[in-house]
Order: sequence, then C-alpha cells, then structure tokens
Amino acid sequence: MKNPGAQQDVSVSQGVRMMFYLMKPSETSFQTVEAVPDYVRKATPFFISLILLELVVSWILKGKPSGRLDDILTSMSAGVVSRLPSLFFRSFEVTSYIYIWENYRLLELPWDCPWTWYLTFLGVDFGYYWFHRMAHEVNIIWAGHQVHHSSEDYNLSTALRQSVLQLYTSWIFYSPLALFIPPSVFAVHVQFNLLYQFWIHTEVINNLGPLELILNTPSHHRVHHGRNRYCIDKNYAGTLIIWDRIFGTFEAENERVTYGLTHPVNTFEPFKVQFHHLHYIWATFWATPGFFHKFSVLFKGPGWSPGKPRLGLSEEIPEVTGQEIPFSSSASQLLKIYTVLQFAVMLAFYEETFANTDALSQITLLLRLSFIILTLTSIGFLLEQRPTAAIVETLRCLMFLTLYRLGHLKPLFPSLSSVFE
Ligand SMILES: [Zn+2]
Ligand SMILES: [Zn+2]
Repeated sequence: MKNPGAQQDVSVSQGVRMMFYLMKPSETSFQTVEAVPDYVRKATPFFISLILLELVVSWILKGKPSGRLDDILTSMSAGVVSRLPSLFFRSFEVTSYIYIWENYRLLELPWDCPWTWYLTFLGVDFGYYWFHRMAHEVNIIWAGHQVHHSSEDYNLSTALRQSVLQLYTSWIFYSPLALFIPPSVFAVHVQFNLLYQFWIHTEVINNLGPLELILNTPSHHRVHHGRNRYCIDKNYAGTLIIWDRIFGTFEAENERVTYGLTHPVNTFEPFKVQFHHLHYIWATFWATPGFFHKFSVLFKGPGWSPGKPRLGLSEEIPEVTGQEIPFSSSASQLLKIYTVLQFAVMLAFYEETFANTDALSQITLLLRLSFIILTLTSIGFLLEQRPTAAIVETLRCLMFLTLYRLGHLKPLFPSLSSVFE
C-alpha cells in the first residue's frame, strides 16, 4: 500500500532541522500513519547540498576533496537501490509494526501527547542500538548491514550506502514498541533516527566537547566504521551514545581509523555491493558439516567457524597498516564525468517517479525501476572497466529511447524533446 503522506510538504526550515533531529513534537505529531510525510524521500536535496558543502569545506580545511567520485557514486547508488521497494510497498518496518499494533497492543498512548513523542524517540533509539548490534553479531543480519560498511572512505555519501535487505530484519527490534506506541508516532521517529545518522558520517568535524558524552557524533561513528582491531564491534548507537556506554560497547577514537570491511568487496557494481555476503553465507553454509554448525553459520558472528567463540577471534582480523590502498576506478576522467552525468539524469527520473507514484501505472513503475537498476549497473561496469560495459551501456541507451518513445519516461527538459525525436 502506498503512503499518501509522501505528498505532504516539508518546509525548508523543517528540512534542515530534520537532518539533526531538531523537530518539535507539535509539528511532527500525526493522528494516522497515512498523514506522516515521507521525510527520508524529501531529504534528497538536503543530502546532495550537504555532500557538496562537505566537498568544499574539506577542500578549504584539508586541501583535498572529502571523497572519490567512484566511491561516492557507489554509495549514492546503494542509497537509490535501498529505496526502490518503497515505489510499490509501504516500508516493511512500518507495515509489520501496524500489524502488531492492530492485533496485539496492550494499551494506546495518546498520539498527540509530547510525552509519547519523547518516549518514542528513546524507544526507537534503544531498538536501533539492539538491531545494529545484532546486525554485526548475527551473520544473516550482517548480510544486509555490511553494505553500509563497504565504503573504504568516510564522508556524507557513506551514510547513503544502505542495504535493501535491512528492513526485513530491523522490524523485529522495534516490535515491542507496537504494544503501546501508535504507528504514526513510530513512523516519524524511525525516519528521524535514520536522518540524524547522515551528518555524523564526516571527517570535517573533529570533537564536539561535552556533546560527545551523550550524542552519537562523527568521532564516535568513525570508530564504528573502522576496520582497525580496536574499532570492531564498537559504537552501535543511532542518536544517543549512552546505550554503548551502558552496555559496554563504547570505544573512543584514538589511533587513526582505516575504514571499510575487514575483507574489502572491491566492486562498484550495485548487486555485488548489496548481495555478495549472502552468496558467501550460502557457500559457507553448504561447506560446513553438521546441522548445528550450519545453524551457527547463519546465527553466530560473521567471523565464526567451528571451534571458535561466537564472534570469532580478534587476532584473525587483518591488522591495518594505515597504508591500505582503497579500491579505485581506472576509468578516464572523461568517462567518470560521463557516469556522473548519467547518474544525475537517473536521479532526476528517480525523484520524478517517487513524486508521482500514485499517477503512474504499475507497468510504467516497473519499467522505470528496471531502467534505474540498469543505469546503476552500467555505471558500476563502466567504473570497473569491465569488457561487457560497452554492451550494457548500449542496451541501457536503447532502453531509454524505447521507454521515452512509448511514453513511460517524460522528457526532463521539454524543449529538448525534439532531439530525442
Ligand atoms: Zn554498523
Ligand atoms: Zn554509518
């Protein structure tokens, strides 16, 4: 079921404040879940503006950009892929929440009371901490979450590197809230909790003084993204770092952090980024003897194998030297600029599609979805300089022209429509 709230307006002031959870209960309390705006979708211009701002600030402060084009495109591509199911369905997190609320709720807190709002803020953040911790400690949940850790850089675009699978496990950790908190209040906070985590993915902010005691900050979250041994399985917080301090998973930033997976995936291809660990689990599952051991492959830590403790052995994590060379594209500057332009055109179609989901037929939505996926795959192939890249890109261009000709894509600039004709 689609969400009519997706059409509701968010002012520029609200747009800026929602990126930092600086919203008031009075402006973000809704009676029904249908009335809740799709804040995350409306955040796209703020994501892009802040990424550009970070590039400039990094250039001024450090004399170099905050990221690399190939890595930024791959992160943004994962962000787009992770949102595609919501073209057809309401978020699985919210759908399952509504089901539990409608069938099993014990009491109904008032949706318009500020205390409900603040309690939900705490409840969602607490649920996020445990979801996130399990996403690192349970291999099958890690299969989704590893996407977010697959960048070897750390900048605002890394925040957008999200998994398309994650929603299908995170709902479990929020379900106790559905016993007493109305879905409309939950649907607001689960979005703000995600949006808050955008700005902390940066190296241009060092230390925030006393705020570091309570809030999750860029410094704390840099540790979370590290593959240095001291960083592994630390700082799971969403908004408040207090949960890590309480449950013993806090670690302050000290030696320089090297980012990414302990075994980098080395790809720009969106499907491999999203699903490579599932493939690895599948292979390990069948290669591991014994029913209980197979069960453990799924539900113990990603580093586990028979004979090891639940979370594996820390001495098996490759030691970082600080000299690691991140996976980079060998494509020419001209080809990289081409991929950026194609990504920008795709993003305009993506935005236009989300803004008009109700007006578009299912077949148009499916065709546009295929075009978006093919574009992202082709960009990945071009950046990796794969031998088949030219064929995939030609197919993509043919698909574009066909969809345009059949009226499934509208011209972005009507004055240019004669060029396509
Ligand atoms: Zn994580
Ligand atoms: Zn992160």
